[in-house]
Amino acid sequence: MLIELKAPCPGVFTPIEKCPDPVFAARTLGEGISIDPTDRYLLAPCKGTVIQLHRALHALTLRTANQVEILLHIGINTVTLNGQGFKPLVQMGDTVDVGQRLIEFDMDLVATKATSLITQMIVLNSTGATGFSTPLRSGQLVSSGDVVASFQVADAEVNAPAPAEVIVKEKSEGSFAKLNSKPLEIINQHGLHARPIAVLTAAAKNFSSNILVHLGSQGVNAKSVTALLSLDVKYKDVVRLTAQGKDAEQAIRTLGQLIVNGLGEAPAPIAPPIGQQSTAKEPREVEVKDDARVTGVCASPGIAIGEVFQIRHPEISVNENGGDPRVEKNSLHKALAEAGEELNRLQQTLSQKTGAAKAAIFAAHEEILQDPDIISAVENEIAKGKSAAFSWKKTMQLKAEALGRSKNEMLAARASDLRDVAYRVLRIVSGAASKASVPLVFPDNVILIAEDLTPSDTATLDTSKVRGFCTIAGGATSHVAILARALGIPALAAITPRALNIPNGTPVLLNGERGFLQENPKTEELVLFRNLQAEQDSQRQQAIEQALEKAQTLDGTRIEVAANIGNIGEAEKCVPLGADGVGLLRSEFLFLDRQEAPSEEEQFRIYKKIAKTLGDDKSLIVRTLDVGGDKPLPYLPIPAEENPFLGERGIRVGLKNPEILNTQLRAILRASEFGKLMIMFPMISSLKEFETARLMVLDAAQDLGVRMIPVGIMVEVPAAALLAEQFASVVDFFSIGTNDLAQYTLAMDRGNSRLADRLDGLDPSILRLIDMTVQAGKRYKKWTGVCGGLASETAAIPLLIGLGVSELSVSVPALPMVKAQVRGLDRERCEKLAQTALNLTSASEVRQLVENAFTKGTHRGS
Ligand code: PEP
Ligand code: MG
Repeated sequence: MLIELKAPCPGVFTPIEKCPDPVFAARTLGEGISIDPTDRYLLAPCKGTVIQLHRALHALTLRTANQVEILLHIGINTVTLNGQGFKPLVQMGDTVDVGQRLIEFDMDLVATKATSLITQMIVLNSTGATGFSTPLRSGQLVSSGDVVASFQVADAEVNAPAPAEVIVKEKSEGSFAKLNSKPLEIINQHGLHARPIAVLTAAAKNFSSNILVHLGSQGVNAKSVTALLSLDVKYKDVVRLTAQGKDAEQAIRTLGQLIVNGLGEAPAPIAPPIGQQSTAKEPREVEVKDDARVTGVCASPGIAIGEVFQIRHPEISVNENGGDPRVEKNSLHKALAEAGEELNRLQQTLSQKTGAAKAAIFAAHEEILQDPDIISAVENEIAKGKSAAFSWKKTMQLKAEALGRSKNEMLAARASDLRDVAYRVLRIVSGAASKASVPLVFPDNVILIAEDLTPSDTATLDTSKVRGFCTIAGGATSHVAILARALGIPALAAITPRALNIPNGTPVLLNGERGFLQENPKTEELVLFRNLQAEQDSQRQQAIEQALEKAQTLDGTRIEVAANIGNIGEAEKCVPLGADGVGLLRSEFLFLDRQEAPSEEEQFRIYKKIAKTLGDDKSLIVRTLDVGGDKPLPYLPIPAEENPFLGERGIRVGLKNPEILNTQLRAILRASEFGKLMIMFPMISSLKEFETARLMVLDAAQDLGVRMIPVGIMVEVPAAALLAEQFASVVDFFSIGTNDLAQYTLAMDRGNSRLADRLDGLDPSILRLIDMTVQAGKRYKKWTGVCGGLASETAAIPLLIGLGVSELSVSVPALPMVKAQVRGLDRERCEKLAQTALNLTSASEVRQLVENAFTKGTHRGS
């Protein structure tokens, strides 16, 4: 029999897998849909009885006549509002009609105080519904009354009694009977570890009853992660649930079914009979336990195998004695809430990037934050007059030690989750910073893990020993990432903080292409990755062999592929790797470690040497000092600023210190006698800045008696792109700095790890600014290049060429592969692709477009 469900609210449809809550997105509770509501009433999607109304009033469950249970859940993380902003219009036990108003919610309040208003309608797994489907498309507007989903139930189930086989009444104690489930076998291969436990506790918290999970003679609180962890439930163990309270029956039924279904994990595979093992050559990555992997944003490509070397965050010392216990308790809860927000953001970032299942690890961390056993232990300490920080540190240390002592390897490993959460909250509650300090000497063959590294830390890494690194902070366009790419070592940024708990010396595999770090890789994994590495090396080798050939598209359009460099060594390396020139000399990188400003003579010698290394036919674009933001220069201190990226940066510093800028301009002009030099000004945001700076070049050239050289600007502030028409008449060229252009257009700090996944240079807003710049340049016959990170991104290259960009300036190691990619493209097709991309609404749509164009073969072979 087909059952149809109507919209539980009008709004915008989102497929459930895109729901920002990983538990819903992974369909842990069942199939369903999400709607971003445009009205303040939650409506009944069908006829039914209200069998559960959450105490926080944000969710309820309806049971239909066919015994199908439908969970309606308003918003994400709305449980934390404790009822604030929600007004129930029905009670438990009420029979409701389709379209009836169930809960009224204050949209403004909920939207500002919770993570999201997006509302879920889930057909609970336990109820035997099959063939769930929805006729809607992502982003489609739905009205109340629209049919939004349907499913089948067996006809025999119509009017069947509630499936009660999991329930056995024990005895009546007080006003509520204590109910018992039937024995439940654990089908999770690794027993009940952090993620299934997170699913169980999250579901248990939807019920007001006291619920216990029993194993043998032991019974623990089903709402406590740590209590469940210490129960140490293994594969094939048989547990039992008991519940007492007004929603006990529903609790046992829901949780019992969740356990039987594997708590969001696939059942343990049944081993094939001996002799019938699979011989498939599929990469075995899928078999890797998620727990053995930490994920991050790809900051520099490549694969590395080495041993962990932690650049430790400093020990946080805390005062034992606290002030007024009420104040201490308050600061504890504030820190817990802030840590919860951090984790939430991490979860969202990760679920967008790697899918809900991996993000669920943070759901487990969030559950730890709300663990009633932990919170009451910490509050007990505070009541004894101890500080919140001390009480938290002590409680978490004891819990982690207890878990760490477990003989069960899985359980012992969970101690690191506790430590991770412990450090996060301690950092917040104690107000400690989290900066690491880099030692000068490393053991051989290491993969560094640090909270953060400064550009000069990174620039001075000994690459003969450091095989790769991972930072908790930063993003793909942070300067640390740029330096890693220049060094040619794989790196990850914005990595899961759990990485800080991996002991020194642990063998790891760092995959800078796929964004993960794998602990203790098995021999076959190492073999697999070495093969992958070998395959990449051979592609790269082939590209290197052709590196000196032109980069010309299939239809004959010539693209200059130039190098981004920061020192003479890189200038030497870029020529044999096929650089058509240097599109960006980050001159500030030449002087990062200096205590005083370099003289004109010293600069002249360096520029001259680089120019001579390149030869007469290759241009050298020197960008004048671009300091400020995350690039401090010891000899040019900039007073502390609240928003350094919006403060004295780039050309603003040069114009404020004309003697320093003038010295540099003179050195460049003198070196121009020895090569094809050009000057480029960073961070230009007004015509006046450019005209003033260009006049300085003119004056210096006259003074030195040398000819004027081309002067261009970096387009990295939206204002410059928006005024490209005006700039085009006065500049000699444009070079688009997509790293900053993305940061300023999307208002996302390029070094902020929490935003790293959303800071995507392929956002159509940025593509439009690039388009405006190229078009304005063309009208005045000025060329436009791109020297930001986008220029070396495989997915971006066809679009940039399609928009009419004629120069791509990339990190030195990337040169041969970028040239190879250009040679396989057709300009006309790139143009069509770019025009479509300009009209899309998000970076992910753009990425999908490019991926489809390639995988469906629309791009190749013509
Ligand atoms: C950019 O912003 O894209 C750029 C190339 O400059 P930098 O990364 O050095 O700020
Ligand atoms: Mg920049």
